[in-house]
Amino acid sequence: MLTSLKRVNRIDFYDREIETMDRSRLRELRDERLRLLLAEIADNRFYREKFQQAGLDMASVLSGEDLKRLPFTTKRELAAEQQAHPPYGRLLSYPVARYSYFHQTSGTTGQPLKWLDSREDWERWTRGWGYVYRGAGVSENDFVFCAFSFGPYISHWAAIEGARKIGALCLSGGGLSSEQRLRMIIDNRCTVLVCTPTYALRLAEVADELSLDLRSSAIRVTIHAGEPGASIESVKRRIEQAWGAACFDHAGATEVGAWAFDCQAHSGAIHLNEFEYIFEVIDPQTAEPVNEGVRGELVVTTLNRPGMPVLRYRTGDLVELTTEPCPCGRTLARIKGGVLGRADDMMIVRGVNLYPSAIDNLLRALPSIIEYEVEIRRVAGMDDLLLKLEINDHESFTGVKKAVLAAFRSQLNIRVSVEQAARGSLPRYEFKARRYKRVAG
Ligand SMILES: [Zn+2]
Repeated sequence: MLTSLKRVNRIDFYDREIETMDRSRLRELRDERLRLLLAEIADNRFYREKFQQAGLDMASVLSGEDLKRLPFTTKRELAAEQQAHPPYGRLLSYPVARYSYFHQTSGTTGQPLKWLDSREDWERWTRGWGYVYRGAGVSENDFVFCAFSFGPYISHWAAIEGARKIGALCLSGGGLSSEQRLRMIIDNRCTVLVCTPTYALRLAEVADELSLDLRSSAIRVTIHAGEPGASIESVKRRIEQAWGAACFDHAGATEVGAWAFDCQAHSGAIHLNEFEYIFEVIDPQTAEPVNEGVRGELVVTTLNRPGMPVLRYRTGDLVELTTEPCPCGRTLARIKGGVLGRADDMMIVRGVNLYPSAIDNLLRALPSIIEYEVEIRRVAGMDDLLLKLEINDHESFTGVKKAVLAAFRSQLNIRVSVEQAARGSLPRYEFKARRYKRVAG
């Protein structure tokens, strides 16, 4: 919306030339980078074998179109590869001595993947976060607070390195309690908060308990990762209200990088980083390409990480692509509503296809609900939901329950069961929330 643009003096870019480039020129540039990548990874045994099995000569692939002859790469395939050839699989293009950084995935969807970066790859790779920060209008004048735990997960490292890239001062919140983090944010007058959407709300809850007023803190921008929440309207609104700050989404993955970033146009869609990656959108069932505007699974090829690349990698993330121009001036394609869900998260509740983000959107719109958990039972081949809700002390559960049931009926057309959870009894999350539990029917 153009009105939102009035809130900022100017639109910031990380690399204006690339971000506003003519789309056909951008495609040429990408194809050129793909050819360089394929020449560089000639010694990568995993992909060499994959090309051979497909009867495809690496040197004959000259463009993103040509690359479509290569079969997809899946997460399961990468995990199996690391299991068969521990610890890293035959996924490295160089001798292991050339690598300097180790990370691993959180293992939400199975065995964690281990990922290595050479120093050169890491430098290129962290550019992705340059786009994320500059897209949100963050500059060298900002104080960025990263509320992630310090560990093998890439978000913390990437957020810090990205802040370095744009010259901002970055404070690590690893190894601290929520209260310590809040005090550090306030004492140091931090202006930017980076964390999961769930944790931004958790910090607001703790601040409330401590009678700290976040709206009067210096935080003016929040940037979120790890979960789709920041593009879910009611979650975004709730974070913005709690912090009195503008909330920005971004999307990324350990094995891919920060592949999408938000901009100051607040258009409800976030930009794909089409310079660093080749994107495709496919039907998750048939694997056929889908047209712009049709929801499908995102497939990514990393152009900036030859040391351990992914080619035609099925992310499992569901997106809806648009190439309509963005009011911010970027020509990069966007995905409407950010990541809409994960292909494997779909529930079928009484015949209705449902993703967790729809439930999040609905429940976060009700201010009396503080935290929730969802139990999924398989009943007669369909999923049945029991919602456990933690609510504000001064609210009556009967009233909240009535509002929830009515909202599920009118917005999602399904019936759910609802029960009250004692205040403070549901788990709180610093990283990816795991609110969905499958139980035996
Ligand atoms: Zn934009």
